[in-house]
Amino acid sequence: MGNEIDTLIIGGGLSGLSVAHFLQKYQPGARISILEKSSSPGGAISSFQQDGFLAERGAHGFLDNVEASRELLADTSLDKEAQKAPLDEFVRYVCLNGRLNLIPQSPKKILKSNLISLPAKLRVLADLWKKPHPEEQTVAQWAAHRFGSSLLPFVDAVLTGTYAGDLNRLSIDAVFPGIRNLELKNGSVIRGLLQKRKVAKAKNQDASAMKLPAMISFPQGMGRLPEALAADKYLAYSTEVESIHKNEDGWEVRTSENSYQAKSLVLALSVNQALRLLNNSEGLAGEASPVSAIPEARIVTVALGFTESADIPFGFGYLAPEQEKRFAMGALFSTHMFPGRAPAGHVLLEALVGGRRHPEKLELSDDVLIHKTYADLKQLIHLPDPPVFSKVLRPDHGIPQLEIGYPKLLAWRNSLIGINQGLYVCGFGWEGIGINDMTKSARQVASAIAAGITAKDETEVKGVYF
Ligand SMILES: Cc1cc2nc3c(=O)[nH]c(=O)nc-3n(C[C@H](O)[C@H](O)[C@H](O)COP(=O)(O)OP(=O)(O)OC[C@H]3O[C@@H](n4cnc5c(N)ncnc54)[C@H](O)[C@@H]3O)c2cc1C
Repeated sequence: MGNEIDTLIIGGGLSGLSVAHFLQKYQPGARISILEKSSSPGGAISSFQQDGFLAERGAHGFLDNVEASRELLADTSLDKEAQKAPLDEFVRYVCLNGRLNLIPQSPKKILKSNLISLPAKLRVLADLWKKPHPEEQTVAQWAAHRFGSSLLPFVDAVLTGTYAGDLNRLSIDAVFPGIRNLELKNGSVIRGLLQKRKVAKAKNQDASAMKLPAMISFPQGMGRLPEALAADKYLAYSTEVESIHKNEDGWEVRTSENSYQAKSLVLALSVNQALRLLNNSEGLAGEASPVSAIPEARIVTVALGFTESADIPFGFGYLAPEQEKRFAMGALFSTHMFPGRAPAGHVLLEALVGGRRHPEKLELSDDVLIHKTYADLKQLIHLPDPPVFSKVLRPDHGIPQLEIGYPKLLAWRNSLIGINQGLYVCGFGWEGIGINDMTKSARQVASAIAAGITAKDETEVKGVYF
């Protein structure tokens, strides 16, 4: 025994590092330790550099419209290093009928564009009188009921770009809880949004709410974020927690070599990593979890570097809905978005392959992945010469899939932390899957620990961007 600490955090990914950061602010002097099983911080966030090219194994960036993330950047002075790509300058494309179509950045603008037929536009208005179905539905069922099936390829593109997921399995209640609440409360999404706009206008918030956010990364890649956050924290690397135990003094955590005692315990882990520990615990009050694991979507990044003979359309990149039956789910035009990711006279594309619907593609060899990705991209983008650089990045981390039944698991997690004093559970998947979801939950957890209460998530209506 020994190693007594005030707050022990399991997981040195973005969530664990952010909880520690906010807690240091709210409780100066508190003894905080982070246990991390790998030999470096960052978890799913990890950048890769070779031959002057810079690619990402995981996250490529995050939007600057969440206060908790902005606070982290300001506190660490990373705001001065950040590269910004504003959504209103950088367009995106959706692959429809085998070609790239420029896509407006918001659902409202998509409706105004000629990507959607007049009858389909009119069908969207049926949302105003379609009665909400209170039972849990897939995103596809929900979107078809509210807005008509013509919009499904666009919804598919959004969920491919975020979850690498399947809209026929993801749960609307789990993936867009804010929009779902709006629908149930107002009887219609459109009516709910108009009502929300009215309230914001009354509070003079409209101008900032209307402004499109910017995508953020760093000249060294996203790995810079965990690196900076880890710099002033106590992290024990290569330390895998095997079990957790509740006792009279708080929480005991065991690794194969050591045991730690803490007043508060934070599991800052992806859903499946947390479930493994919660199901291997002693003294925890409450029922067993309704499921032992949830599905994850795995992807590979195929980074391809070209000379400037490649004529990549200006913008962020494109997404391809499943109906297009393409090899890659989409690609980021990395050097447009964040210059400096390729040597002079070169450009970089990062294609995403696999996802929830195509795990079989991950079994392919690097050579086959590169060959098939190049052949696919060549049909959509003018790439007269073969790549001069290619690299397949295979992230260890899957993306948690919040599919039908997930709200039950979340309710179980909420009841668990409600009845086990000093236990906090946040991280990849629990309250969403994006970086901004992580920083927001981490800040809530830190302020709850500082106040000695249970953390509560505030459901909000998030913007939907491509
Ligand atoms: C391929 C991919 C692309 C993504 N793209 C984007 C994007 O473009 N924009 C965006 O906003 N988000 C993106 N994300 C999501 C984003 O990366 C995550 O929201 C975020 O990194 C999750 O951080 P976390 O700390 O909660 O979890 P993790 O990163 O999973 O960190 C958990 C940490 O806990 C450690 N750990 C696990 N078990 C134990 C144990 N028993 N003992 C000790 N340590 C343990 C792990 O080693 C890991 O370091 C992407 C994710 C992936 C996988």
